[in-house]
Amino acid sequence: MIFCPLASGSAGNCTYVSFGDKRFLIDAGISATKITNALKQLGLSPADLDGILVTHEHVDHVKGIYVFTRKYGVPIYANTGTWHGILKRDPDIPMEYRYAFETGMDFYLGNVNIMPFAIPHDANDPVGYVLRCSGLSAAVATDIGHINDEWVRAVSGSQAVLIEANHNVEMVLAGPYPYHLKQRILSRRGHLCNEDCARVLMQLYANGTQAAYLGHLSGENNTPEVAYDTVSGMLIEAGIRPGEDLALNVARRDQISDMVVLETPQESVRRSFF
Ligand SMILES: [Zn+2]
Ligand SMILES: [Zn+2]
Repeated sequence: MIFCPLASGSAGNCTYVSFGDKRFLIDAGISATKITNALKQLGLSPADLDGILVTHEHVDHVKGIYVFTRKYGVPIYANTGTWHGILKRDPDIPMEYRYAFETGMDFYLGNVNIMPFAIPHDANDPVGYVLRCSGLSAAVATDIGHINDEWVRAVSGSQAVLIEANHNVEMVLAGPYPYHLKQRILSRRGHLCNEDCARVLMQLYANGTQAAYLGHLSGENNTPEVAYDTVSGMLIEAGIRPGEDLALNVARRDQISDMVVLETPQESVRRSFF
């Protein structure tokens, strides 16, 4: 399994996950050109992809979808609510590349099991994903207003995760955003703060997570240093050593991050964040 964020943040999200020769993107919220260039850095071309799994219709998750699919013919998977939002923006996505699933119902693409699970966020029917194959699994959970049992349970047990560490609450309150935007970010259907991300990671670590990316950082209300220091500080207080017990990395906003490579459930992270 290879897990690699290609871009992560409020300006655009796209994550690459592969199991053997089955290769997927979760979201395509950066331009088609940027996606193609990022794939090239992994030694891949768009034709190598088996599908794009969409979390929700916000532009930072779907920006490149139309051009990418028109150009390269990659199938897109989303639930009906998300499709409704995508087609409002990009009504000309060819029918033959549109596939729909139901939130909470897992399905297979080849031998890869895909579970879209519900997340609390202000979109039509937003989801996170767990992808599983041969005892390995990876999860993406961003754009999350608050911690609840449903999504934490869904993500638990994945060896590699990308979890939202969107903001520092003090930076939001002191920052330049208008009141309604601050309220949106901090609401129960907005975004997850650094501290809540750390709380979730403690639980995930107890359930076998070996590698974690902090993702979807706000450009205004967080920095990679603040996110990493807050989360690693709380993990250390809880007796979890980042870099030793748990590989911890901040996903980069506008370039590809170091990848996580996992081989079998028996081996630990073979080459993590190299
Ligand atoms: Zn969103
Ligand atoms: Zn987003």
